[in-house]
Amino acid sequence: MSLTPKTTQQTTLATALVIALIASAAQPTQVLSALTVRTMLYAFVAFCSAYKEKVRKAVVPGFRTALLSWPSKMPGPSWSLPAHKSCPRAWGTICDLCYAAKGCYQFASTRLAQHIRFQWTVECMRSAVGIDLWVSTMVRAIVGCEYFRVHDSGDMFNATYARAWLRVMTLCPGTKFWLPTRAYQGGVMGDLPLFDPMLETLRLMAKLPNVTVRPSALNFGDYAPKVPGLHAGSTADNPDVFRLYQCPAKRLYEGNCGPCRFCWEEKTVPVNYPKH
Ligand code: SF4
Repeated sequence: MSLTPKTTQQTTLATALVIALIASAAQPTQVLSALTVRTMLYAFVAFCSAYKEKVRKAVVPGFRTALLSWPSKMPGPSWSLPAHKSCPRAWGTICDLCYAAKGCYQFASTRLAQHIRFQWTVECMRSAVGIDLWVSTMVRAIVGCEYFRVHDSGDMFNATYARAWLRVMTLCPGTKFWLPTRAYQGGVMGDLPLFDPMLETLRLMAKLPNVTVRPSALNFGDYAPKVPGLHAGSTADNPDVFRLYQCPAKRLYEGNCGPCRFCWEEKTVPVNYPKH
């Protein structure tokens, strides 16, 4: 097992730990004194602020538009594209009433930012050089992040784009990615294709230890889909507490994830979200 820290966060915590141990050695009667605990806390807070600042500064190349978004609900940043326009396999009542087409997502500034990201991405996907640029830009912005959500709005719109994400995920092993998606479907609503480059790419992502790929249900009240090769799925407005983990964000944490990281960490248990 390698003891090399894989992310900036791990490096910061390792440094804080070393400082704490040195301080502890200087005060042998108090193994973890208030001073050392405070040192670790300051180091952690400093890291979080530094990473947020890095995300704030990352822009779409050639524009002043923020590259990543940071939804208030989430413990980390996200990638946001226009709902429906970037979701070619969006069928069913959940997509008809998509949360990403309502509320704050209707602000002109948010829609413009999503549009610019989408145009830049589509353009990049046209050539090998463009794909390399897209991958390196995304990796630079994401490295150091602990929890990342792929698409708080939008979806995998083609296989080339999905393969570019596979590269990003592989190059950021210290980051945990959660990808909710309906791109697993074939040509007919909800059907699985016999062979599909998109589905095969999603399966390759799901093999990575730092990635959770959750197939999303099409209709409110449906059960979470089971797709061979992907992780446990997710649905909305299905209160079955025996078969589905019920997202606690609205009930317990005022709409935020709070301390919950279930969507990233529990790959084998399906999740239900309340209707937005
Ligand atoms: S289940 Fe947990 S991690 Fe997932 S969205 Fe709800 S609160 Fe966040």
